[in-house]
Amino acid sequence: MKSDRQPPMTDGKQRLENMLEALKSRGYRITPQRLAILKILAQSRGHPSVESIHKEVKAVFPTTSLATIYKTLTLLKELGQVLELGFADWGSRYDGNRPYPHPHIICTKCGAIVDPESESMSVMTQEMSQASGFRITHHRLDFFGLCPQCQKEE
Ligand SMILES: [Zn+2]
Ligand SMILES: [Zn+2]
Repeated sequence: MKSDRQPPMTDGKQRLENMLEALKSRGYRITPQRLAILKILAQSRGHPSVESIHKEVKAVFPTTSLATIYKTLTLLKELGQVLELGFADWGSRYDGNRPYPHPHIICTKCGAIVDPESESMSVMTQEMSQASGFRITHHRLDFFGLCPQCQKEE
């Protein structure tokens, strides 16, 4: 199980290598389309949706289907190489840059999602564990509000 004590990994190159390694070790072929999807996920801090990944890949490989994106995401999820953030109202968004649980801030107006830099998660996790007696395995913490850009446009 992934713990939140894993250090933040924001190097896109390293993430891409890890993803390729995980896929290759299971015998999966790396098609040019699949590589394009991995690159978007490894580098992106924007937590893209399936649709926006599809749009970006289609710009380079016009025949790429939405099903190909879904299949690759499902595979990466199984391998622990991407974090899926499901939202009842907006569908799912994906983080391949930090594939382990971490807090998110979500703009309720434009849908921007960012990773806040926070040192206090492991402290909070310890407190929760001590107070409840639970062995915490993972967490989901979302903050909602207006991003700086949307505040300007108000
Ligand atoms: Zn916004
Ligand atoms: Zn994230």
